[in-house]
Amino acid sequence: MIVIFLGPPGAGKGTQAAHIVERYGVRQLSTGDMFRAAIKAGTPLGVKAKEVMDAGKLVSDDIVCGLVKERISAVDCKDGFLLDGFPRTLVQAGMLDEMLAEQGRGVDVVIELKVDEAVLVERLRSRIEQTRARGEALRSDDNEETFAKRLGVYREETAPLIPYYAEQGKLRSIDGMGTVEAVSDAIDAILDPIQA
Ligand code: AMP
Repeated sequence: MIVIFLGPPGAGKGTQAAHIVERYGVRQLSTGDMFRAAIKAGTPLGVKAKEVMDAGKLVSDDIVCGLVKERISAVDCKDGFLLDGFPRTLVQAGMLDEMLAEQGRGVDVVIELKVDEAVLVERLRSRIEQTRARGEALRSDDNEETFAKRLGVYREETAPLIPYYAEQGKLRSIDGMGTVEAVSDAIDAILDPIQA
């Protein structure tokens, strides 16, 4: 089962990805997590990615696709995986289709989490407050200014993937504004028949 998660930053993709990993036993591949790991490890890729991420911009298609290609070819991804945060541009989507075709595979379903942007900003503010209250460090791109830029990039670069996958007959859009459980139930209703 190869699943893609689409939705603006803060839509709850990470939270729902954890649910899918637990229920269906597929690998979660988050390109954002890959970059954060590279930053933590201080690799040359990490140094380059940090600057781009902190500015709310996208890392180049070639770099991201190179990482994903390597990752999805690994043995733990042979039965399927969930892409969280990839693809984010039409170029990436085309490259993904090519990579999978080379392996005789294809995307099964694309789940779009539909959310209200004003509510996302509210959620971000409360997440920042709660993180501060716990005395924990914030993600360096977790601030309102960067968030607004990321939303803009989503609208311009990533939202065109919605008609792209709709044309392929793979898009399923769900309401991402409900409780975590309600969103998980809507996801299960899509994935249970595919898994069966
Ligand atoms: P995320 O955790 O998915 O929100 O990603 C955090 C940041 O990593 C993004 O704002 C981008 O700068 C970068 N990034 C993650 N995935 C991609 C991607 N598929 N293409 C380009 N940049 C990405």
